[in-house]
Amino acid sequence: MTSSSDQIVIVGGGFSGAMAAARLAERGVASTLIDARGDFGLGVAYSTPFDGHLLNVRANRMSAVDGRPDDFVRWLAAHHPGHADPEGFAPRRLYGLYVQDRLRSIETAHPGRITRIHGRATALRGTTVACDDGDPVTGRAVVLATGNPAPRTASDTGARVISDPWAPGALDGIGAEDRVAIIGTGLTMVDMAIWLQARGWRGPLFALSRRGLGPRAHANQPDAPLALSPRLTHGPASARLAAARREVETGQWRNLMEALRPVTADLWRAADVVTRARWVRHLRPYWDVHRHRIAPTIAAEIDGLAGAGRLTVVAGRVVSVAATDTTVTLSYRPKGTRDDRTQTADWLIDCTGPGHDPARDPLTGPLIAAGRARLDPLGLGLDLDEAGRVLGADGTPDPTLLVLGPPARATFWETVAVPDIRKRIEVLTGALAE
Ligand SMILES: Cc1cc2nc3c(=O)[nH]c(=O)nc-3n(C[C@H](O)[C@H](O)[C@H](O)COP(=O)(O)OP(=O)(O)OC[C@H]3O[C@@H](n4cnc5c(N)ncnc54)[C@H](O)[C@@H]3O)c2cc1C
Repeated sequence: MTSSSDQIVIVGGGFSGAMAAARLAERGVASTLIDARGDFGLGVAYSTPFDGHLLNVRANRMSAVDGRPDDFVRWLAAHHPGHADPEGFAPRRLYGLYVQDRLRSIETAHPGRITRIHGRATALRGTTVACDDGDPVTGRAVVLATGNPAPRTASDTGARVISDPWAPGALDGIGAEDRVAIIGTGLTMVDMAIWLQARGWRGPLFALSRRGLGPRAHANQPDAPLALSPRLTHGPASARLAAARREVETGQWRNLMEALRPVTADLWRAADVVTRARWVRHLRPYWDVHRHRIAPTIAAEIDGLAGAGRLTVVAGRVVSVAATDTTVTLSYRPKGTRDDRTQTADWLIDCTGPGHDPARDPLTGPLIAAGRARLDPLGLGLDLDEAGRVLGADGTPDPTLLVLGPPARATFWETVAVPDIRKRIEVLTGALAE
């Protein structure tokens, strides 16, 4: 057993886990970082080898280090000067190299403070983490930074169904003229479409989602946040929504989103369960496409596909997926109708986004069953306190078990992108270093 009474065990070595380990090392705290992929620092988002996959956040907001806003831009200037535009959208691959570089340089500056284990954590007992390959690891606290799980909508439905679009080589079988159907019309659909295009694919693409909404584009120039009036942040949710609608009648929606971003987590925390439930059910799809915007060049490429008649986006819900060895038939019900339709394609890709399900997760499911953790009332994720500590069934925070990154969304909502995660890293590592 690898054990140190003082170390922190971090499960997940993507951006969140790797940068938490780095920050702990800087604060004088040792950690063991366990990652199933083994490419520490990359995670799902930054492991793409394709340079056409761009960051969806401007470079000057992507510093991995809280308090050093120009860290990533400086790194770009030193290593990839052609991409060092502070307002630009750099390739995600380069961002991954930057994160790995920071992790390595902290390891060099603080030898022995970070131990890497390439393996999958399979169970958690007390503060001991069991791994599929190797000895269990024990520390004084465990941080779950397990990130974005693969989608689950179309899993296990046959060889022509690509249920994890991020699995290595997932798109390799798709031929140049093949018909592709995608469930989901968000960021992952966009990623797949431009990646296929760059690989020489010239076939048609049919994309289905409940509302048929796609991510909006960033403006060419950064958007200054507008001044937030109390009408937007106080009072009944319906009145705030009405105020926001009035605000954007003048076309300033990006500025409004920029203004809301720093206070979104606070608004989420302050909302009661009924308001949160209504928001998730009715507003979330609209929020997501306006909040998580894509680079203008990517948006132009997607518009080009649609304009050429190769991309058809439909609003509707999946009824069934039937696959043979050579084709997939997707049955769906268009929004607002009662008649099912079918779409036949050579391939179907599940781009419905991360399939978070803590109750069925092998690490967190048993914790919930044993009362060491509980789900938030909407079942979005584990219930946490302000520092990211897991709340037990009786609401008591467990100082030895913390959650970081996307799995903390039930409590913080905005905890998916780097600018938000790096702030959480600061809070969480500060609490652990005390
Ligand atoms: C395709 C994509 C593009 C994105 N683009 C941007 C962007 O441009 N800008 C931005 O700010 N944000 C972006 N994001 C948001 C992204 O969530 C964060 O930037 C960040 O990468 C999250 O990192 P993470 O470490 O929390 O999760 P992940 O990157 O998902 O990493 C989690 C890691 O944990 C490992 N793991 C999971 N379970 C176990 C286990 N049981 N045992 C061991 N290891 C385990 C996984 O293998 C993985 O390596 C993007 C997300 C995606 C999916």
